[in-house]
Amino acid sequence: MKQYDLAIVGAGILGTFAAYHAVQRGWSVLLLESGMEAKGASVRNFGQLVPSGMGLNGWRNIGARTIHHLTEINKSTPLPWKKNGSLYVASDEQELQLLEEMQQLNDAQGYASRLLSVNECCELSQPLNKAYAKGGLFFPDDATTESPKLLATLLQFIIQSGRCDYRNGSLVQTVEENDSGCSLRTTDNTIYRARDVLVCCGHQLNRLFPAILQTPAMRICKLQMMDTLASSQVKLHCNLLTGLSIRRYDAFHSCASYANLITSEYQQQLQAEGIHLLFTQRADGSLIIGDSHHYTNALDVDSLDYHNDQHINQLILTEAQRILGVDTLPINRFWNGYYSQHDNSILATSIQKNIHAVTGIGGKGMTCSGGFTELVIEQLTKQQSLDLINIV
Ligand SMILES: Cc1cc2nc3c(=O)[nH]c(=O)nc-3n(C[C@H](O)[C@H](O)[C@H](O)COP(=O)(O)OP(=O)(O)OC[C@H]3O[C@@H](n4cnc5c(N)ncnc54)[C@H](O)[C@@H]3O)c2cc1C
Repeated sequence: MKQYDLAIVGAGILGTFAAYHAVQRGWSVLLLESGMEAKGASVRNFGQLVPSGMGLNGWRNIGARTIHHLTEINKSTPLPWKKNGSLYVASDEQELQLLEEMQQLNDAQGYASRLLSVNECCELSQPLNKAYAKGGLFFPDDATTESPKLLATLLQFIIQSGRCDYRNGSLVQTVEENDSGCSLRTTDNTIYRARDVLVCCGHQLNRLFPAILQTPAMRICKLQMMDTLASSQVKLHCNLLTGLSIRRYDAFHSCASYANLITSEYQQQLQAEGIHLLFTQRADGSLIIGDSHHYTNALDVDSLDYHNDQHINQLILTEAQRILGVDTLPINRFWNGYYSQHDNSILATSIQKNIHAVTGIGGKGMTCSGGFTELVIEQLTKQQSLDLINIV
């Protein structure tokens, strides 16, 4: 029976990027996915690649590495992403102050960004409500992708290397380590063997090693999203992030005035549902709009809410229309997404000497998986525990 260097459980963005880095090192890789294709968070998101919003000293660099890897792959295989930047629009003076402070921090670190007037914001986002916008901060190095297309293209690129076998419809039921390596068994009783195993199971924490993955430090987040019909009336030249995103994203916690933010009753009403407004435009002109955040402890997974709540949709839609300054948006679909989020910003752990897991990356997986799994494969190359990886 073939023994792979690495078997990866789960072909979401973490598992797929881990396969990419392993293949780059010349390893033989087996990638096992329970679905006929990945259907989890990795294909339900905005596709915003936004190192700009990440914690300044750690995750921002990891996000930048993801964009570096996409740039490298693009040299031989065109991937569906573009470096079109992100615009953060302030809705009041306090948020504007945060943007100005962020610009100073970026200048000090040599990180590219520039403050924009309201008129300049309106050129990047057409339309944008001038009564909403007080000014903006533009990050030219951020990027946008269409996640399902990116995942599929990246997977094909890896398979074409000839060093990765991909098996979909393969739900891994057990993973065991013994003297001669690791063995994995799927629900149809197929056995695979590998030197190392990496479990990248997303929010499916109760399938493998629940005692380690499904802990009080892990939460599962439900997010509500929507998209519009394809439209030629809206032209977004970049990712659009708005006032409540400035108040939410880790990067802005480093700003001096962050601790003194005052929140209006309306903002509190949205924040109570974890709502902040992000917009991305697909190639066909349709907009992806969201989102809300509701958390369940991973131990309490049975209480996870699978409903799509119209009250939440209405709050998001009303705020979206206010930001763009339009009376209606032609909504096409509503959906929920779910991700796991660890209290330490990610769970990367070696369960046994050769069995490892990475999950709980939260809302930054599209931005940071390419950079983070590079570190994971480096650790495995050195035969060191994943528990030693420490990102602040
Ligand atoms: C609505 C929404 C919007 C988001 N927007 C953004 C964004 O704009 N930018 C950003 O950076 N991040 C964003 N994120 C976060 C990002 O999507 C996630 O962090 C990321 O997709 C998590 O990837 P993953 O590989 O860990 O999980 P998943 O995508 O869930 O993949 C896990 C895979 O493992 C498979 N699996 C599980 N158990 C087994 C098993 N036993 N055997 C075989 N297969 C198994 C599952 O079928 C699944 O395909 C968003 C998330 C959501 C939900």
